[in-house]
Amino acid sequence: MKFCHQCAAPLIVRIPEGDDKPRHCCDDCDTIFYQNPKNVVGTLPIHDNKVLLCKRAIQPRIGKWTLPAGFMENGESSLHGAIRETKEEAGALVTVADNSLYTLFNLPTINQVYMFFRAELTDLNFDPGIESEEVALFAEEEIPWSEIAFPVVRSTLEHYFKDLKHSRFPVRMFDVHHGEDRSITTRLISLSSS
Ligand SMILES: [Zn+2]
Repeated sequence: MKFCHQCAAPLIVRIPEGDDKPRHCCDDCDTIFYQNPKNVVGTLPIHDNKVLLCKRAIQPRIGKWTLPAGFMENGESSLHGAIRETKEEAGALVTVADNSLYTLFNLPTINQVYMFFRAELTDLNFDPGIESEEVALFAEEEIPWSEIAFPVVRSTLEHYFKDLKHSRFPVRMFDVHHGEDRSITTRLISLSSS
């Protein structure tokens, strides 16, 4: 961000009075632009113990498989955003139970929060949207583990297939740290009791 969205004057990065973090400040119209984490919301669409995955047609990780997910829009809830992304990326309609929240990932290194909801496919008329090259259902033994786009997706899938064996799906929250050497550490922070 270089210029003020209000008056187009050049912005200065400094710590405003009473604050403790550098912000983009406009000294012409006294506006402060706060940058906060973005929410990414998605579903784990299920049919017959199989999971629907999308092959990415866009960067990053083009050609890799992912769960349908994307940035939340203003004016929508996290769950509705996840259902919307599922329709946009996989052409899939889903229904959700009242215990749909499944995994939450804090990614402070890249200023994002990911949320995945368990969902049932309403029918099998799914169809790739423009962001997907292909959409398909995978049983556990068919999951292309070496071709999964993002660690948060891999972690969600691993927990799902473990939980499926006990038919219990507790809510888990993780902290994910990206190291300077490109390593990624995922740590369980919270686990619901049911
Ligand atoms: Zn300004």
